Amino acid sequence: MSYETVIGLEIHAELLTLTKVFCGCSADFGGEENTRVCPRCSGMPGSLPLFGRGAAELAIKAGLALNCKINNFSAFDRKNYFYPDLPKAYQITQFNYPICTDGFVDICTKKIRINRIHIEEDAGKLIHDDELGLSLADYNRCGIPLIEIVTEPDIRSAEEAKQFTAAVALALKYAGVCDAKMEQGSLRCDVNISVMPKGSKVFGTRTEIKNLNSLRSIGRAIEYEYSRQTELCERGERVIQQTLHWNDALGVTKALRSKEEAHDYRYFPEPDIPPLFITDEEIKAIKNTMPEMPKEKKERYLKMGLTPADADLLIFDKALADFYDEAVKCYNNPKSVASMIIVELLRRMNDLSLPAAELKITPSDFAELCKMADDGTVSRGAAKDILKQMLEVGGSPMEIAEKGGMLMSNDTSAVEAAADEILAANPKAVEEYKAGSAKVFGFLMGQMCRSLGRSANPAIVKKVLEEKLNS
Ligand code: ADP
Ligand code: MG
Ligand code: ZN
Repeated sequence: MSYETVIGLEIHAELLTLTKVFCGCSADFGGEENTRVCPRCSGMPGSLPLFGRGAAELAIKAGLALNCKINNFSAFDRKNYFYPDLPKAYQITQFNYPICTDGFVDICTKKIRINRIHIEEDAGKLIHDDELGLSLADYNRCGIPLIEIVTEPDIRSAEEAKQFTAAVALALKYAGVCDAKMEQGSLRCDVNISVMPKGSKVFGTRTEIKNLNSLRSIGRAIEYEYSRQTELCERGERVIQQTLHWNDALGVTKALRSKEEAHDYRYFPEPDIPPLFITDEEIKAIKNTMPEMPKEKKERYLKMGLTPADADLLIFDKALADFYDEAVKCYNNPKSVASMIIVELLRRMNDLSLPAAELKITPSDFAELCKMADDGTVSRGAAKDILKQMLEVGGSPMEIAEKGGMLMSNDTSAVEAAADEILAANPKAVEEYKAGSAKVFGFLMGQMCRSLGRSANPAIVKKVLEEKLNS
């Protein structure tokens, strides 16, 4: 029998607030262990949480970026459980009344519906030392604001799950909600997965794989779990609903101990934080601050004449897309600027392992270079060298071209003189050419370029040489 996978994702994204959500501790990544904690975020008895509305604003932006309804009323609950990374022994989260509901994300092939986005606080981090056989707790992450994005079970393959996660990460980055660095854990994904016979409408029993922190491991964990579940079904056994951990090194899922799984959280309304009222005017004001999102940008790029693949390449890196937009403002030739970025700049950035955010070239200098290559101020080959120098040493393209003698000369008299000289020095080649050997023309062109240097305009050289040979 063949089976279909059903997948729903829960994505946790850390919000880019300066401080934690219920206290004034820094919300930056890292820091020496247990130096960013206070009585509030470590849950000392008698301390009161204070909700920072900055987190609400970012959650609303996430909702807008993911096409959700923003709720005028939302509220916080306590989710009670004991685990060493949670000193309060409860997590404050929006259980009954989330801030956003009913959104969607378009991926290549379809729409994935979002059930809800709610605000909650992150827990600390446990560091397990297998050699010493002990676990250490770092509470710096306790109380960093998160949103949890929960999808409907609309995803049907590992590929779709990866596409969806990448699209969400990009949208959150564009909206300035989260830096979405999966490797640092600022965006993490829980995968709920079940299988059912193809064509069935009844979902199977699901398992939940916790805390995947790369697109690759999301894909691998799904493939593995699909095989494991279908094999169980084939053998007539049942899938047990449980929480699993993905072991990336071994490439297998493993059940967490069952005591960690006792799902009786005894939710109740958080007594120390008032509900959140957000007016339509406030939502509108936040909407007005939203930047252009990836989908809109892509539509605009397609209208400017870029191919979908080129548009995607630029959009995938927000800093690069911003660079491109600024450069096109300086030199309105969208296709030429895009091609210089994609063909030349990206390759060099790769070689230098240079992220777009750290580019030292200004968009206007880059635009100038594109223009110089287009209008024949420098040759294409020289433009590449100039770009290299701009990246490695800095400087404006015109300066570099002048210093390096790369400005293309349109003076035909020098070219004619060189042609006379070279033809006189190579009578045999001239003879061969006249006898019909086209190959020898390349040799003569090469001689010309060598004699004229970087300033030779190949079009002019070719024309003059042809004229002389055919006269
Ligand atoms: P819980 O409250 O136990 O976390 P939810 O109903 O909120 O459960 O669902 C959590 C996630 O699991 C959602 O993304 C949902 O789409 C997904 N999901 C629910 N049922 C299934 C299923 N049978 N197979 C795969 N995913 C499922
Ligand atoms: Mg869940
Ligand atoms: Zn604190």
